[in-house]
Amino acid sequence: MRVFATKETCAVSSLCVYQAPEVFDQDEEGQVEVLDPEPPAELHEDVRIAVRGCPTQSIRVE
Ligand code: SF4
Repeated sequence: MRVFATKETCAVSSLCVYQAPEVFDQDEEGQVEVLDPEPPAELHEDVRIAVRGCPTQSIRVE
């Protein structure tokens, strides 16, 4: 799994950070940052839930 984020559309909702704090963080302006772009298998479900829950489709996985 590879994780991608688009800061430009991030609405600073923090939902992804709550869902998968090992993978997502926020920069000093509150916008999404990917901490771990290739997370281990045990985090994949949390990441997928975060992707589905992002209100602006600013994070995705391949
Ligand atoms: S859930 Fe989406 S909009 Fe909210 S902080 Fe994460 S990337 Fe940004």
